[in-house]
Amino acid sequence: MKHSFFSVIFLSFAFTYVLLVDLFSLEEKKLPNDLRWVRQSMEYKSLCVQIYCQASKKISLINEISEEHLAVVVDLDETVLDNSEYQVERLKLGLNFSQDSWSNWVNRKRSTLVPGAKKFLKRVRELGIKVVFLSNRMHANLKPTKENLRTLGVLSEKDLFLLRRDNSDTKEIRRAEILSGTGRISEIGPMKVVAYLGDQMGDFPAHHPKDLGTSVFIFPNPMYGKW
Ligand SMILES: [Mg+2]
Repeated sequence: MKHSFFSVIFLSFAFTYVLLVDLFSLEEKKLPNDLRWVRQSMEYKSLCVQIYCQASKKISLINEISEEHLAVVVDLDETVLDNSEYQVERLKLGLNFSQDSWSNWVNRKRSTLVPGAKKFLKRVRELGIKVVFLSNRMHANLKPTKENLRTLGVLSEKDLFLLRRDNSDTKEIRRAEILSGTGRISEIGPMKVVAYLGDQMGDFPAHHPKDLGTSVFIFPNPMYGKW
């Protein structure tokens, strides 16, 4: 009698577990194409690794003696950090992006890594090139951003962060500071940027098409953008 009681309890738990796993799988399958592509496809993963490999090869060829510091300017979200989980959460709630929910997400430090990012950043540092993270994450969220990167094993204390102070603090302004060695970069001085990496056109200065795959590296992001 006692034996059959425990069997019933066990079977109930097993059934519930299977049901939950099925529900989760079903929900992932129901995701729109953009999210499924980023979260599940080998095509997305392979593209990211391919772009990072190309960037790594190009900067490895740089062999110049420069008075200036060499830098690689890297965007964070959907370039180094994968926030597709945030997109899934918003979708399930039936809500769009909001600054409050985004700050909350950043503070939870749950971003994962875009494939290939870790190896690339390691290579940049091995070459003695400075990593400058230029992101529209708010400067107020610098601490959780660093902690998230540290947990993912992609943070060096030598990295520079140029996050957004306010809405007027555009990426153009921050890129100009890097090149001229002014403002937040004044203690270092002018830097020569050997590569820009990002997922939005706003991550790059005006450039010639021949710069693509040479000093400008664009990552796929079908989830959001100013299209
Ligand atoms: Mg981005």
